[in-house]
Amino acid sequence: MFTCRDSIDLLQRFLDGEMPEEERHRLKEHLDACPPCVDFLRTYRATPGLCRKAMVDQMPRELSKQLTAFLRQRLRK
Ligand SMILES: [Zn+2]
Repeated sequence: MFTCRDSIDLLQRFLDGEMPEEERHRLKEHLDACPPCVDFLRTYRATPGLCRKAMVDQMPRELSKQLTAFLRQRLRK
């Protein structure tokens, strides 16, 4: 079963730009069925395009770690 924790791990790699197509597909499948993860992505997608691209291209490792920690804490509820 594909869990939120798996989703977060994949999402972090997605932000790092290292996600293979197959895993991207699995992440999308999870998001189709998981409102908490969708809420996060909606926030992410609301970021202006240029800024979002900068995030994906240049997200510092530290910020990526903070994002992961935030998501883990949130999804534990
Ligand atoms: Zn989820």
